[in-house]
Amino acid sequence: MKKLIIYFCVFLLVFFIAPAVLTATPKDKVQETMANEEKTGDLKNEEGAVSEEEKKPEDEEQEENKDYEYQQFKTIKLLHQDTGQVEELPIDEYLYGVVSSEMPADFQLEALKAQAVVARTYTIFQIKNSPGKHGDADICDDSGCCQAWITKEGRLARWEPSIAESNWNKIVEAVDSTKGKIITYDGNVINAFFHSNSGGVTESSLNIWGGVDYPYLKSVETAGEEGYTQYSSQASFNRQELLNKIREKYPDCEIDYSQNNCIEILEYTTSGRVKTIKFGNKEIAGTEARTLLGLRSTNFTLTIDGENIIFSVTGYGHGVGMSQTGADSLAKTGSNYEDIIKHFYTGVEIIEVNSLK
Ligand SMILES: [Zn+2]
Repeated sequence: MKKLIIYFCVFLLVFFIAPAVLTATPKDKVQETMANEEKTGDLKNEEGAVSEEEKKPEDEEQEENKDYEYQQFKTIKLLHQDTGQVEELPIDEYLYGVVSSEMPADFQLEALKAQAVVARTYTIFQIKNSPGKHGDADICDDSGCCQAWITKEGRLARWEPSIAESNWNKIVEAVDSTKGKIITYDGNVINAFFHSNSGGVTESSLNIWGGVDYPYLKSVETAGEEGYTQYSSQASFNRQELLNKIREKYPDCEIDYSQNNCIEILEYTTSGRVKTIKFGNKEIAGTEARTLLGLRSTNFTLTIDGENIIFSVTGYGHGVGMSQTGADSLAKTGSNYEDIIKHFYTGVEIIEVNSLK
């Protein structure tokens, strides 16, 4: 009988538990992007709208793409989180609303095209891999859960009237000229994470969420990120404020500020972000410290200046996948959307969704 129970447990482990663990996607991941910044009012649009002369010569080929016929994923069911209503709309029409909320329209056209392909890929990944997450809907319009989305009217109303129409047309061009394009790794749609500013080097997904080690979400360097307002920030707390923040999660935390190393970074990830940090008698993950203290990223240093503890933070967001300001920076130095995508996602291919098996 005992043996039978052991065999049964092994059977469960091999056929159910292990596959579930291996295929599980990391929890609580959000696209920490410009859409999130916009909500908190931190977004400052960058200069650099693309002029007609700067357009790439591959426009002719893109004209053909505009007639792309989706064999599947023609429409998506979008859940509006505020009303609970589900709206079905053509996938690229949905993407106009995503790209225009996720990236400033004055970013380079090639960066916007990269964002369009990334958003399309993210959408199709969700449809294929998270069925039932939103009931009958495929995806929702909450940037903290899926991707931000806004109606055309809503978006136009938020731009200066003099540039609203041309901004919208630029978003439409970014989506339409990449119609049908998605990103794959080893023939499968990738989990296309993106964030606002990497601070110069992106992070592997494993270091942030653990779990699955996505081979295409590796740490890569990216130049030019320091030119954006999202690159550096500071957060300051007095001794009691800091202790209170840590105690929100760890009520028994004690910090003896008379000790030199009372707050100490213990370990860094390979990309230089804080992996483990000690606050008095508590050792916690850098990602957790970031959440508790509301820091913009886990790439930080700290100084204790008398009564105050000052965190100097580099970059904005989790750092995994494509950096949006990095994409814009690469586009400014001549990279096209394919170069940008292949820079941030290691070993991927860009294919047409109709050829997806
Ligand atoms: Zn969602």
